[in-house]
Amino acid sequence: MNETLIFMGPPGAGKGTQAVKLCENRKLKQLSTGDMLRDHVRRGTELGVQAKQIMDAGKLVSDEVIIGMVRAELESMEEVRVLFDGFPRTTAQAEALDQLLQDFNAPLAGVVLLEVDEEVVTQRLLKRAELEGRSDDNEQTIRNRLKVYNEQTAPLIGYYEGTGKLKKVDGMGEVADVEARIQGILG
Ligand code: ADP
Repeated sequence: MNETLIFMGPPGAGKGTQAVKLCENRKLKQLSTGDMLRDHVRRGTELGVQAKQIMDAGKLVSDEVIIGMVRAELESMEEVRVLFDGFPRTTAQAEALDQLLQDFNAPLAGVVLLEVDEEVVTQRLLKRAELEGRSDDNEQTIRNRLKVYNEQTAPLIGYYEGTGKLKKVDGMGEVADVEARIQGILG
């Protein structure tokens, strides 16, 4: 049966980590637009070359490109059982997703918002920069990504609150504790 979930939260909130665990449990496919873009960068596609500059500046890749990428991915699936991680990030993307979910007949089970203090996410991202060396994990870009999140993505909290689907989860503390909170709220 088709089913979709959305993971929201600032960069560094732990969306990717928690998404992997939840996908295992609920047999969902994790669809991270950030991972998809990084894959294009690695493969050196035309999109990858353009996206790299935007990502390294901490800005958002255009809605058109992102929505097209997500649509193509959904079209390739036999059954749409997806956890969106890092998408939607703008109101235009959220509206497009509503339409996509209708087209693919895949109801939205919930929107999990991982809440973490800005100071904590900044420290986490700086630490990840040391460990993984992601080129957009430097202090200037991190600051910009948080600003973009607050300006362009945070308004989606209200958007999904209005649908009654939003589930706020405290994202602070140990990974296992956060995992248990998410399981608890989704049932
Ligand atoms: P994080 O949320 O930890 O910053 P992501 O891997 O989700 O990292 O995204 C990395 C970068 O990829 C973003 O800063 C942005 O440039 C680009 N990106 C990812 N998803 C989207 C999206 N839905 N819309 C626009 N840009 C995106």
